[in-house]
Amino acid sequence: NQFSELKISSDICRAISLLGYEKPTQVQSEAIPFLLAKKDIIVKSQTGSGKTAAFGIPLCESIEWEERAPQALVLTPTRELALQIQNDLFHIGRFKRLKVEAVFGRSPFAAQERQLKQRTHIVVATPGRLLDHLERGTVDLSKIETLVIDEADEMLDMGFIEQIEKVLDHVPSSATKALFSATMPPAIKHLVEEYLVAPQFIEV
Ligand code: AMP
Repeated sequence: NQFSELKISSDICRAISLLGYEKPTQVQSEAIPFLLAKKDIIVKSQTGSGKTAAFGIPLCESIEWEERAPQALVLTPTRELALQIQNDLFHIGRFKRLKVEAVFGRSPFAAQERQLKQRTHIVVATPGRLLDHLERGTVDLSKIETLVIDEADEMLDMGFIEQIEKVLDHVPSSATKALFSATMPPAIKHLVEEYLVAPQFIEV
């Protein structure tokens, strides 16, 4: 059970070992192969399980540096989580020189707009502010190949489901989707049925 068995490129392996990760956690060894194979997954896991790297590693692995529009999108409930995920993804993708942008509310719109105009590989966003950018045409989701819905149950509790669905309608239906949630209330099951394709269920 080693990162080297997961078919991860040397740039990413080097970054992982610099982070001090010696071997994959359970959620990482189960989720990474599915996402690398572009299969949808539902993951029931808690914070602390290593779930950020479980989606972060395959996300960073799959990015083509040359593409100008964002190729991966992570939806997350709060500004704090967005910044934390941005930081983790930056470190995983550092040797690929990946640009990871965080977009969240109660923060200047214009600065985010400027950042999004630069080449951005991965967008980490709270749903409301991302929708604002979509409505003003300041973010392009037409090249998204992987979508992660992080802490789906938290976002449900915060009343974000409708916004998530609107965002999903802007993401190509061919995108690989990963949904992370500690619980599976009916509204989340509904989201899964509506948007995920034959998802693999992973519980750790
Ligand atoms: P998360 O569940 O994503 O919030 O991660 C919890 C903590 O585990 C974070 O501080 C990570 O940096 C750390 N972590 C993630 N993956 C590994 C790993 N494979 N080995 C050791 N620590 C890890």
